[in-house]
Amino acid sequence: MKYDRTYNFSAGPAMMPEPVLEEIQKEVLNYRGSGMSVMEMSHRSKVFQQIIDEAEADLRKLMNIPDNYKVLFIQGGGTLQFAMVPLNLMKNGVACYVETGSWSKKAIAEAKKYGEVKIVASSKDENFTYVPDCSNLDIPDNADYVYICENETINGTTFFNLPNTKGHVLVSDQSSMFLSRPCDVSKYGLIWAGVQKNVGPAGMAVVIIREDLIREDIDPKCPTYLSYKTHADSASLYNTPNCWAIYCCGKVFKYLMNIGGLTAIEKINQEKAKVLYDYLDSSKLFKGSVRKEDRSLMNVPFVTGSDEMDAKFVAASKEAGFDNLKGHKSVGGLRASIYNAMPKDGVEALVEFLKKFEKENA
Ligand SMILES: *Cc1c(COP(=O)(O)O)cnc(C)c1O
Repeated sequence: MKYDRTYNFSAGPAMMPEPVLEEIQKEVLNYRGSGMSVMEMSHRSKVFQQIIDEAEADLRKLMNIPDNYKVLFIQGGGTLQFAMVPLNLMKNGVACYVETGSWSKKAIAEAKKYGEVKIVASSKDENFTYVPDCSNLDIPDNADYVYICENETINGTTFFNLPNTKGHVLVSDQSSMFLSRPCDVSKYGLIWAGVQKNVGPAGMAVVIIREDLIREDIDPKCPTYLSYKTHADSASLYNTPNCWAIYCCGKVFKYLMNIGGLTAIEKINQEKAKVLYDYLDSSKLFKGSVRKEDRSLMNVPFVTGSDEMDAKFVAASKEAGFDNLKGHKSVGGLRASIYNAMPKDGVEALVEFLKKFEKENA
């Protein structure tokens, strides 16, 4: 490869598109005649205002975000949203959560600090290897929202059908699938995503929130920074934002528009994932961990069935130039994260390597 870069299968931070990195490299010493890099630039400057405005406008175009939704860039990564969602959206103090794995469990634990949490569906019985049926959930009338983690990064499942929320607000953590396929924003009350999985550098979340959910009457003890209203009223410039992340994400939004938008990237992602899943389905050594219809196109967990063999594979793959194929420590096994920016060549090379390893270890 041109820059001697590795195929990085990390679950996050993850690969970014090479053309984007090249553009950033060109602009790093002097951003478009401003005499400075975006890292050194005032967030109140005209130059930066244009960067953030364009990033928002491009994201709106890319996702076709309706006018009655705000787009917010908030620091604190994904994890802060586990608290911000209940702090801002719990009006009656009751929320429903679908439990599908590690990240929804974290969201549940945090929400419990602020109100009553009802787990309306769970796939815990089968180790979170599938997405439970959410077509007829038992949702109390006074529930403020229904929450899902739309793609469980560690467990490798994805919702291909959204839950029937029976008129209640849907909140979705899209961190590990953001911009990987078209999304009908109008079906959600709030979408949030930590950007370091599918978009840019770590340390920021994008929040897309329907305007009527931005409230004034939240707990007065809620830190100013944790109120969505603070960020909405100041157009994400209440304090110094993560300028660098906004700039990089903006470049990725443009890159996605240039290759044909979310329909185009979805097609690429489907083709890419198919290469890996087809092999796993045919292999006698490796096996995918997730029920077929719920398999993520982004995070692919798989196992050999033996911890020793898994460890041997991790060591051999590293040697061969593939990075971060070890499964998350909480579930073990192996995992390949193949986000938007992982080239198809990378997945094909991985499959060739898996085949070779299988032959040598038959
Ligand atoms: C990574 C991840 C998070 C947490 O993101 P941080 O920025 O590390 O806090 C939350 N939800 C999902 C689904 C993730 O993949």
